[in-house]
Amino acid sequence: MRPFTSTIFAEMSALALRTGAINLGQGFPDTDGPPSLLADVAANVIGGVNQYPPGPGIPALRTAVAEHQRRFYGQEVDPERVLITTGATEAIASAILALCEPGDEVVTFQPYYDSYAATIALSGATLRAVPLRPGSSGSPTFAFDPAELRAAFSERTRVVLVNTPHNPTGTVLDREQLTLLGQLAVEFDAVIVADEVYEHMLYDGREHVPMATLPGLADRTLTISSAGKTFSVTGWKVGWVHGPVDLLGSVRAAKQFLTYVSGAPFQPAIANALALPDSFYDDLASGLQSKRDLLSAGLRAAGLTVYPSSGTYFVVTDVAPLGVADGAEFCWRLPDLVGVAAVPVSVFCADPDLGRTLVRFAFCKKDEVLTEAVSRLANLQKALS
Ligand code: PMP
Ligand code: GLN
Repeated sequence: MRPFTSTIFAEMSALALRTGAINLGQGFPDTDGPPSLLADVAANVIGGVNQYPPGPGIPALRTAVAEHQRRFYGQEVDPERVLITTGATEAIASAILALCEPGDEVVTFQPYYDSYAATIALSGATLRAVPLRPGSSGSPTFAFDPAELRAAFSERTRVVLVNTPHNPTGTVLDREQLTLLGQLAVEFDAVIVADEVYEHMLYDGREHVPMATLPGLADRTLTISSAGKTFSVTGWKVGWVHGPVDLLGSVRAAKQFLTYVSGAPFQPAIANALALPDSFYDDLASGLQSKRDLLSAGLRAAGLTVYPSSGTYFVVTDVAPLGVADGAEFCWRLPDLVGVAAVPVSVFCADPDLGRTLVRFAFCKKDEVLTEAVSRLANLQKALS
């Protein structure tokens, strides 16, 4: 664990707090989730729903997750094959720890969510990271090179860990890209672990395609999501994973010795929230889309190159046009320069050169906070000169 002593989110949030900077580093909303959900949880705590829930999660929540998959994706999921976890983080860790051992390889895209590299290291497996690069196919959005993707696979590939919509780039992988990934997983007999925590945060009419709904992939795919994202309650850490019975059994075996269970008063409330009307889900996406637009325009006006984000809480920028050579160093200075915090993309990369001048900003904040951040960023060029 030596390379993983402290996460960039903890470091940048502490720096923002110390300096009074607006924290656009760590991705968490600054408004609470739906009032009905909050009231349900409060009533559960007062009403005595406070002891260990069943190992796989309470039946009502497992059923609600299955119903959610049917409602949004037409996917048939047996509630028996849903496992409630301590956030998506534990679902990912349980899957990797259950399935991988030294000698195995895990293919994932870089930049990646930071827990991926740490969890793969804990399992003893080897990370094979395939770059997502901006503009590689003539478009300004991030994409992978199919030949590089194929070259990352071998008979040692045990798991393909795919995240769409993608943190940090905001890329939404399309059906064609996911199909190619699926074909390689079949060819090399790998399990797909699909991290879909941002499934309800897509913009400009983009469509989320769950990996498990592609032909022939359901039997080898574990699908992961999180109430933290969908209901803007990231501190609650209630997530889930579903998939075929044999794979899920292995994941459950690992999960029961990580936390055993968690979130008793949250689970029934989240079961109710998953059934909220479409307007809730539509408002979540449209609200975030306009926040994305507000911050992206401000970053562009401040002189940064802004890569279009189609999903998630995040927008990635290139600070090279400001004459900055190192994004990490820039992020350490940014709170002092203009009173805003962000995170460097290089820390999400196995090959730090890949994201050397890229910086991620989170837009899941109140409009007035974003407006203030934009007006502070307008001073950036002057502060740097
Ligand atoms: N995967 C990705 C891509 C994420 O951005 C996050 C959010 N931090 C997680 C997993 C973890 O989710 P949770 O907070 O539910 O553990
Ligand atoms: N998922 C959030 C992000 O990427 C925060 C995760 C964390 O703090 N570990 O910013």
